[in-house]
Amino acid sequence: MRQPAQRRAAEVALSIDVEDWFHSENVKRGVSRDSWDRCEPRVERNTMRMLEILDATNTRATFFVLGWVAERNVNLVREIAAAGHEVASHGFAHQLVYSLSPEAFRQDVSRAKALLEDIAGQEVRGYRAPCFSITPWAIPILQETGHAYDSSMVPTAAHDRYGSLGTIDDGSDIAELGEGFHEVCVSCLRFSRRGIPWGGGGYFRFVPYAAWMRGINVILAGGHPYVFYIHPWEIDPGQPRVDGMSVFNTYRQRVNLHRCEERFEALCARFHWMTIGEMIERRRGGAVAIDPAILPHAEAGASLS
Ligand SMILES: [Zn+2]
Repeated sequence: MRQPAQRRAAEVALSIDVEDWFHSENVKRGVSRDSWDRCEPRVERNTMRMLEILDATNTRATFFVLGWVAERNVNLVREIAAAGHEVASHGFAHQLVYSLSPEAFRQDVSRAKALLEDIAGQEVRGYRAPCFSITPWAIPILQETGHAYDSSMVPTAAHDRYGSLGTIDDGSDIAELGEGFHEVCVSCLRFSRRGIPWGGGGYFRFVPYAAWMRGINVILAGGHPYVFYIHPWEIDPGQPRVDGMSVFNTYRQRVNLHRCEERFEALCARFHWMTIGEMIERRRGGAVAIDPAILPHAEAGASLS
């Protein structure tokens, strides 16, 4: 078990989008939707490894589980819930929200929520859109279908697939969009109102670890919460290579996969993480503890590249 010299109490939430390598938008051109059931399943192994890391570092997280995965990995969802993590929804079929009709979206999120609640035995409060493809008309539908928060907004212009919620794109990190319904933005390093995505994914694998930590420190020192996300396939350098992908998408899918597990473990050990549900509750209760101290040099994972 990794024991960093100083583990920080800060307003930081950890989230994991539970999908398999072939659900990634990056490989869409090479792996058609109707071939998913013929792809090598690796999500259970990778998610179990993440659960081991979370357990070893005494870390809790929010798991946004894809309904398609939950249906085929019932015991995995039960393991996540039994370990004390928050089970939330990544929708059912991993289709970009703004590509769906409102009615198709309603059916997708309702199906996923009911399935996950049935398996996990706990209320599913949170939703994260596939590839952060949120759009304003989806918010009332999430409310109507019983969700309490969305965490799909990345306040950046630096990504070709992300969606947007124009009305709250004002630099808020956590916003109450309706009575009892919150938006929790995934973190960016902000320059004026827009920022560089600094919440995870390919950015976390591409940027050197020490620089990534400095960026988190800048975010926290500015009085902002920090929301991180990762996918189980990002710690799996053995995932199949896919023909027919563009050079750019191959890079986005595969950059530094072999370094990601140790970086993730170091990051887990660096802070006292909370779930996204807890982050909202702490805000509502006014009990927000922000530690803007500058990171010490001897930090967990300082030797990682
Ligand atoms: Zn996804």
